Amino acid sequence: MRKRRVVILGATGSIGESARKVARDIPERMEIVGMSAHSNADKLHAAAKEFPNAKLAISSGPDGVERLVELATLPEADLVLIAIVGTGGLRPALAAIEAGKDIAVASKEILVMAGEAVMTAARRKGVKVLPVDSEHNAIFQCLEAAKDEGGRMKDESSGPAAQSASSLIPHPSSFPSVRRLILTASGGPFRQMPAAQLASVTVEQALKHPTWTMGAKITIDSATLFNKGLEMIEARWLFDVEMARVEVIVHPQSIVHSMVEFIDSSVLAQLSTTDMCFPIQYAVTYPERVPNSLPPLDFAKLARLDFEAPRLADFPALTLAREAGETGGTLPAVLNAANEIAVAAFLARRCSFPAIWETVARVMGEHRSIAGAGLDAILSADSWARTRATEVLGV
Ligand code: NDP
Ligand code: MG
Repeated sequence: MRKRRVVILGATGSIGESARKVARDIPERMEIVGMSAHSNADKLHAAAKEFPNAKLAISSGPDGVERLVELATLPEADLVLIAIVGTGGLRPALAAIEAGKDIAVASKEILVMAGEAVMTAARRKGVKVLPVDSEHNAIFQCLEAAKDEGGRMKDESSGPAAQSASSLIPHPSSFPSVRRLILTASGGPFRQMPAAQLASVTVEQALKHPTWTMGAKITIDSATLFNKGLEMIEARWLFDVEMARVEVIVHPQSIVHSMVEFIDSSVLAQLSTTDMCFPIQYAVTYPERVPNSLPPLDFAKLARLDFEAPRLADFPALTLAREAGETGGTLPAVLNAANEIAVAAFLARRCSFPAIWETVARVMGEHRSIAGAGLDAILSADSWARTRATEVLGV
């Protein structure tokens, strides 16, 4: 039994809180050795009382990124959980990889923006990128379940590709029996709202997520369905699969966290109660499972699980994300950056709800994607899109 020494970047957020809960629940398997907050020093110091050995960092100062990089490369750490909202976790994530640490990624934005760079660096260093987003963690668990005891995919021939894949998370591309990855979406608070009413929804309505309690940015993303759009691109990079094989189905109960369909049309799904402690724990104890105090599912009480097609015409986020993921290059970074600016404007009551996707669509339309873009080109596209989205919104 291995104890993981974990750094949590974004320890004061919703994911950070769940990660601290997991550490209290399975102390023999998880020790917190570092924690960061952006500006909430009081909450960080309160958290530090429970984990007195953890080194601390505040990232809102002028040298914030350096403080995060120091924490992400602590010699005593072996796993870095990136739970920072937005793209602020990218540099520390790359630094952790360079220092040979495994990373557990909740911050989907960094994989949308720079998924190729992150995954290539991780492969080169032989470190793991463990998905924490519940859908990707579910797919990861389904792919793991399809492995044999020797750690190889059941239908994989031995050889160099299989060897290198086995040190990483499973790869559908080196796993020919996978047909589709099916991401489930709750549908958000406006799943059944007539399209005409979407123009007048308020911040309070959008912040009322039906099944999950999360930070404000991802809650708004869940209402527009950009969250699921970002997750499609996240899946494309995490599992090295083309966008055409990533699909979305609305499942209002959020009990089936995602599914993998195989070429024989069999489907594996991962289910649990709605709590981010499940995927965080699996990322920490992987490849093992350990008992915990989380509530098991009561199927008789659940009674039913519903599924329906997403409303693509009324919620353009999914189509925009598919286009960005298929085009690749700098376009996903542009989609992500314009969305971050528009969500902040909506939360500040400076734009309407539909203005979020209208802004993203317009900024994407003005951008000419650079194929095979390196990190510099991606960072400059990100910064261009932030400026352009701010201009378009007039905020
Ligand atoms: P929260 O807003 O609750 O927390 C964000 C955390 O990041 C806080 O610790 C905050 O510090 C810190 N932070 C904010 N801005 C910066 C910055 N610019 N640089 C460094 N640190 C910063 O977010 P969530 O926990 O909900 O989400 C975190 C990430 O996880 C997001 O990318 C989200 O998409 C993803 N995710 C979240 C899920 C959830 O259930 N919440 C589910 C799946 C994915 P401070 O408190 O000081 O402001
Ligand atoms: Mg998710």
